[in-house]
Amino acid sequence: MKKLFRLVSVIVSSLALLLVLTACGSKPLADQNVVTRAKQSNTITWGVKADTKLFGLMDVKNSQIKGFEVDMAKALTKQILGPKGKADFVQVTSSTRMPLLKNGNIDAIMATMTITPERLKQVDFSRSYFDAGQSLLVKNGSPIKNVKDLNKNGATVLGVVGSNSVQNVAKFAPKAKVLQLSDYAQAMTALKSGQGEALTTDNGILAGMSVENPGYHLAGGAFTKEPYGIAINKNQPEFKHDLNHALTKVEQSGQYNRILKKWFGNVPGLNYKEMER
Ligand code: GLU
Repeated sequence: MKKLFRLVSVIVSSLALLLVLTACGSKPLADQNVVTRAKQSNTITWGVKADTKLFGLMDVKNSQIKGFEVDMAKALTKQILGPKGKADFVQVTSSTRMPLLKNGNIDAIMATMTITPERLKQVDFSRSYFDAGQSLLVKNGSPIKNVKDLNKNGATVLGVVGSNSVQNVAKFAPKAKVLQLSDYAQAMTALKSGQGEALTTDNGILAGMSVENPGYHLAGGAFTKEPYGIAINKNQPEFKHDLNHALTKVEQSGQYNRILKKWFGNVPGLNYKEMER
């Protein structure tokens, strides 16, 4: 009888311990409610590019990342958390952004990321905040005038790992060879050193590169549609709602157009007026 009593009490206390552990045990970061956590810390942590002029570029003088997406992330943070809300920035590339989000290192990706059906299987997106399209950057005097020309003589086109631009080349110019670099700074260096005849990604990103490198220009216009969305982990309906609501507020107040003009107002080949909201 004593033995039985001891056995029952061991089982009961083990069960109680299990219950306590389940209740207190911290959920993986990526599964915690982002809005609750952001309100507690008064901070939203954004993954932004640091190699992409106009959208997110590291200013080495003061180690700050600057660009359209950084300003938008700050504006959205203040809409969601109030005027004292803080936006933290973590630098991502096209290939690191998804794992950093999935591991909970960042709350949201705002990094020239196109909303695609494949990505929607893994993450959720806000509605689109910028409409880009894929294009080409070539050296002045290049015989490559559009994406079809990449098929001729098996041209090499440069792109970045983790971007959907490299996959699109296979659809539009299946005979082209693709060389994938790890970020856009390296891809531009590869273009300048003649490792490829063209660099491909979205028109806004290429426009930023051509501002820095006047010997290069965009060729052939946009051959895809690339709507950029803010990527967040799945099962965060409150965060998604708050982001979309904040985006509407930023657009309606005229702040979106001011940020747009600040970054794209003077970029040759881009008509920012067409992108106003
Ligand atoms: N928008 C494209 C993408 O999401 C290209 C830009 C980038 O590499 O981030 O893949």
